[in-house]
Amino acid sequence: MTHDSALSEMSATSAPSSTDEGTSLRGTLAQPHFSTDREHLTEPTVKAKRIRPEISHPVVSSFRQRFPHGVNWYNVGWMLIMNVAAVAAFWHFSWVGLAIAVVMHWVTACLGVTLGYHRLLTHGSLVVSAPVKYFLSICGMLAAEGSPLFWVATHRKHHVLSDQEGDPHSPNDGFWWSHMLWFKPKEGPGELEALLKRWAPDMYKDPVQRFFHKFFPVVPMIFGAMLYFGGEYFFGLGLSCLLWGLCLRMVIGYHSTWFVNSATHIWGYRNYETTDRSRNLWWVALLSYGEGWHNNHHAHQRLARHGHKPWEIDITYMVIRVLKVLGLATQVQDRLPQTDQAA
Ligand SMILES: [Zn+2]
Ligand SMILES: [Zn+2]
Repeated sequence: MTHDSALSEMSATSAPSSTDEGTSLRGTLAQPHFSTDREHLTEPTVKAKRIRPEISHPVVSSFRQRFPHGVNWYNVGWMLIMNVAAVAAFWHFSWVGLAIAVVMHWVTACLGVTLGYHRLLTHGSLVVSAPVKYFLSICGMLAAEGSPLFWVATHRKHHVLSDQEGDPHSPNDGFWWSHMLWFKPKEGPGELEALLKRWAPDMYKDPVQRFFHKFFPVVPMIFGAMLYFGGEYFFGLGLSCLLWGLCLRMVIGYHSTWFVNSATHIWGYRNYETTDRSRNLWWVALLSYGEGWHNNHHAHQRLARHGHKPWEIDITYMVIRVLKVLGLATQVQDRLPQTDQAA
């Protein structure tokens, strides 16, 4: 599909005349048109916008405005349990647990979220076969950041409405909102479904992705059970494998992703004058396998490479290059537009 053109059209049709995010979710805005042909994939990425951002979106302080339908206690409870378990992991250290955590962090956060959810599914920065696409989707689900459908829909919305009304997670609404509070409100009736259909209609048509979306909540639980019983059976270290391989690993992954939403819209330098607050922040890039070069990404959303300068290390792009050499990835969008390179 043509993600950039789709996003451009979404920009054009969803200029934030609405002052209520829920308004767009209820579908009053024009529906974006998604083409299924891939001929535009070879076109250069969108040019960086040269307009200074207008940041006037105020912090909404009222609880009722932030949580119009109440609190999503499932999300709050899950995060509380995972954070407590992540701290408890330090009392149950084992080298096996640490090794599982390191490997699974790379599999879930790099292969799953940054490569699969973000660069492949959200932006179409590369093309892979269906089995590889679904494998990467499953890797992403093991990071427990939401189903591929939810993640992609939310992130596309962020790109179109960045730091404007309707952005799901802008630091204009406060650091903690953009970091980890934005997904705590409970959705209104039909709101989630509308979000998915509005912002990820291409994926919504895919029955496998809809199945993943329904099945998603039990994925980390099944994996946790496998870690516990497998760790107990092979090493006698079930609890350590569970706490390190699931809980602590996931909490570290959460904050790495959340820093992309919060920190890289606040601190760092800009290679491009985009219309949002996006920045390049080296320590977020290290934590998140290259996602911290966020200003580069906002300027050239389709590009598979997020590091545009020699020192901007982008581990996910290195993995994509390996996939390309192995013949597992094609049509990799990796050419910086000559006229618009980071100076
Ligand atoms: Zn952003
Ligand atoms: Zn993106």
